[in-house]
Amino acid sequence: MIGKPEIKIWIRSNTDEVEKFAGMELQRYLFQILDQPVDLVSFPNNISNSPIIYLSGDGQNAPAVFSRHKENLLSDGYLLHGTQNGAFLQAQTPRGLLYAVYGILKYLGARWFFPGPEGEVIPHLKGLELAGLDLIDRPVIQQRGVLIRGTDRYLKEWIDFAPKIGLNAFALETHHGIHDLPNLARGRGLHLRLRRHFFPTIFCSQDEYNLHWEETLVKGYLQSLPDEIESIHIRPADAQGKRCTCAVDSQYSLTDQVMRFTNRMAKVARQVRPEMEYPYVAYQSTWGPPPQVKPDPGVILSLAPIHRCFNHAVTDPDCPINSPYQYNELFDRSGYGVRPIFEEHMKEFDPTTTFVVDYWVDASYFGRGRQKLWDRRIPNIGGILQRDIQFYHSLGISSIWTFVVFVDDTYLEKFTSPLIFQYGNLLWNPDIDLRAGIRDFCQQYLGDESLAEVFPLEEPSDPRDITPEVWDKHIARISKTLSITREKATREKNDLFRKRILRLAKEQEFSLGVMQMYKKEAGTTKL
Ligand SMILES: [Zn+2]
Repeated sequence: MIGKPEIKIWIRSNTDEVEKFAGMELQRYLFQILDQPVDLVSFPNNISNSPIIYLSGDGQNAPAVFSRHKENLLSDGYLLHGTQNGAFLQAQTPRGLLYAVYGILKYLGARWFFPGPEGEVIPHLKGLELAGLDLIDRPVIQQRGVLIRGTDRYLKEWIDFAPKIGLNAFALETHHGIHDLPNLARGRGLHLRLRRHFFPTIFCSQDEYNLHWEETLVKGYLQSLPDEIESIHIRPADAQGKRCTCAVDSQYSLTDQVMRFTNRMAKVARQVRPEMEYPYVAYQSTWGPPPQVKPDPGVILSLAPIHRCFNHAVTDPDCPINSPYQYNELFDRSGYGVRPIFEEHMKEFDPTTTFVVDYWVDASYFGRGRQKLWDRRIPNIGGILQRDIQFYHSLGISSIWTFVVFVDDTYLEKFTSPLIFQYGNLLWNPDIDLRAGIRDFCQQYLGDESLAEVFPLEEPSDPRDITPEVWDKHIARISKTLSITREKATREKNDLFRKRILRLAKEQEFSLGVMQMYKKEAGTTKL
């Protein structure tokens, strides 16, 4: 046991802001955990070439450089090694060191389940027990991101939360806030991105006058953005445009038109930012590869399967929305399925530069259209999320994103969604045991591990491909879990835990009502 009061955190001097922030985060949380100030000091000499923190129990300097297994760390990986007197935190990069800090804090009992203060669990300890700690960890998915609007209530909280669940990329989906983002994200080691609508819905890929005008706008816009925004994805307005009917352009399919236009804009974008990867976006009306026009160098693929079904994983052969492969003339091309279109795109595009933008944690998605009755409640679909990520990973895709719009304090006052932290955990390691994670969450956040049984992993939300019988099955399940939850709340002595369990019971009542309404509608009208 490393006792009070002599604990010191040693960091390298002249480090970058991420490494410095890592030291300050460790200091800030150890102060809360131990209820005593913890000194942050610099090593007297250049102790190591790679980022390192020495947590010293007796206030003494690190005895020697620790560099075991360093070759295994790769870019975001880290190692933790504890002794009787202290602990080493080591990484190849400053960002890896920040994960090492959160890793050792989790080892000590800290948890980050949701963005904001309500989602944080910080233990109170008399000292630090670190002997025997020996851990090497690194993420499986390379780029792990969330998209949010600059106007969202929890923008700052999400920036703070992202690295705590292992994310390393952060994007705004609107221009608003883009100039503040580098400052807000300082020290977090996040790759910053902008992904927004930029072009009009109708455009012609042949009309030189218009193309030149759009090129001028692209150049000017890219020059106006902060350098810290590493990647910029500008695209046509929602639904990806309508087909141009001019004499030349009408020879091409819509996807070919969009690809021609994309190639043209990518060229001018790369004059401003030579390293820029410019996306061709497959989404709604462009869901399906262009038959004729090929991507130019520097043009990468972004897949956003908004029409997918969340009752099933994208690989589920039984899902009539995700699995079929049939061409038709529907505007949104939802009849094309999801899985086969992913596989077909991978024949034309490099999976390692492809990124997927999905909607698992997007509260705005679950509050519109056919999902409207859910009033923005995200379903418990950890099992579906897991299989989706495993599928994307199996294709070689290494950049995975979700929208997190409207997941803020007003959301967390109503809903308890393990999917929020499961998302980060699964991108770090797609093969984790989700059930074990939920048990830990229930123990730490609700004070009772046995509440894990009330959290399903595959809860239906989409009325398109579900029968009244399946709704019945889930209505029966929720009715049962509701009585379990209410009973636990009655017996819970701790005020905070009881408040949270009662909130959960309220959410279950709400879900029960919504499922009953959907079931009723399914019996009368075609949704
Ligand atoms: Zn389905």
